[in-house]
Amino acid sequence: MVYPSLSFDNGSPIHPVSAMDYLPVESLRALQLHRLKATVLYAYERVPLFRRRCEELGVEPRHIKTLSDIRLLPFSKKIDLRDEYPLGLNGASMLETARFHCSSGTTGKPICITNTPDDIAVWQNGAMRCLAMYGINASDVLQVSYGYGLFTGGLGLHYGGEGMGCAVLPTSGGNTERQVMLMRDLGVTAIACTPSYFLRIMDEARKQGVDFRRDTKLRHGIFGAEPWTVEMRDNIERETGIVAHDIYGLTEIAGPGVAGDCEFRTGLHIWEDHFYPEIIDPETLEPLPDGEVGELVFTTISRRGTPMIRYRTRDLTRLRTEKCPCGRTMRVMDRISARSDDMLIIHGVNVFPGQIEAGLLRVPSVAPHYQIVLSSTDTLDLFEIKVEVTQEAFTDNVGAMENLRRKVLEAVKSIIGLTPRITLVGPGTLPRSEGKIKRVIDNRRKGQ
Ligand code: ADP
Ligand code: ZN
Repeated sequence: MVYPSLSFDNGSPIHPVSAMDYLPVESLRALQLHRLKATVLYAYERVPLFRRRCEELGVEPRHIKTLSDIRLLPFSKKIDLRDEYPLGLNGASMLETARFHCSSGTTGKPICITNTPDDIAVWQNGAMRCLAMYGINASDVLQVSYGYGLFTGGLGLHYGGEGMGCAVLPTSGGNTERQVMLMRDLGVTAIACTPSYFLRIMDEARKQGVDFRRDTKLRHGIFGAEPWTVEMRDNIERETGIVAHDIYGLTEIAGPGVAGDCEFRTGLHIWEDHFYPEIIDPETLEPLPDGEVGELVFTTISRRGTPMIRYRTRDLTRLRTEKCPCGRTMRVMDRISARSDDMLIIHGVNVFPGQIEAGLLRVPSVAPHYQIVLSSTDTLDLFEIKVEVTQEAFTDNVGAMENLRRKVLEAVKSIIGLTPRITLVGPGTLPRSEGKIKRVIDNRRKGQ
């Protein structure tokens, strides 16, 4: 089999780091079981909360005999990490710990995760396998515009890029003017950041008169850390001529590099030799068969710093049943287009921001910048979508704008079945982001 996107100086079509991607399924399952057993035993001995919950359920490590026995184990959630702040779920001593990472908590207290040197190596391996899958190698110049620090984005891609032998440009987020200048001057071929920050970079490039195709060597975007639709991907690729790859990860499990898409774009391959996935029904908590949409649950089967067992991510997806034509044996999940927490209930209807994004971006002349504003009067919920018009289409011709507004309304309505108020705004009007963007302003609960 030939892997057209991978070619290396040593003549081998596959980078050595990708070898595990093709592990025969039986070997993969045996490896997973071996690692699962070891992880359960380790967590049972080192994490009191896990042990207590196992005891309540009457489960002991010796009961894990097959992979499906994972169902006997208790779930864990973000709230556990918060309740046990800072290090209650941690299994490693300070001597064994190499690095902490923290992620934002919705209620103020962050969650803290410890990584041993081996955990960092596993994470780096995941990020490298993603980069190799995207066709990125030592000849690439990788600009890492994810934030560096407690957030896993920057350091995750940084070590991934260095591991692949790329020339890494650690710009972190912000100072967008300089980002564009360096990208052009240093011949950057790949950039890693949130898709929303890349939109901001696109704006800045336009402002500086920089045309991606003409003035830069950029060929790859490595985008993740927030939901983004296929429509957004198409928009970015059309505007810039780059290939927009999807990378998935979360602090609790590792960081970016838990999963990524291959050139067939069937979804995201999960590096399940380290991160064991399940899909559950978020209401009944029952495991769902492959092919059904539910909440993604991960068990880290190699991690020792903070081992996470049956961690409920709140991300919604499904595991695909079809084999991917690329030949990788690692299972594929659908792109994460929604997080259960992001679901809005508007006039009694469940709506995900991604559905709105998909509708908006199907209309030519609409720029990929929008904001969903919810507010309420005494009797009514008000639902407004502010959306930017592209520079080319923006005009003071009232009739033309009204036509466009109607098209946008129809596109959104056909997907969500509701009739929001559509407000068209000029280019550059709505807020931009340097990290994860907040596109929903929900004022409904205020004052209640
Ligand atoms: P948090 O946002 O919870 O503070 P993280 O920075 O660890 O913490 O972000 C992890 C979350 O980001 C994931 O659970 C998921 O919701 C989202 N995410 C990460 N990568 C992607 C991606 N490629 N597509 C969609 N969502 C993603
Ligand atoms: Zn594939």
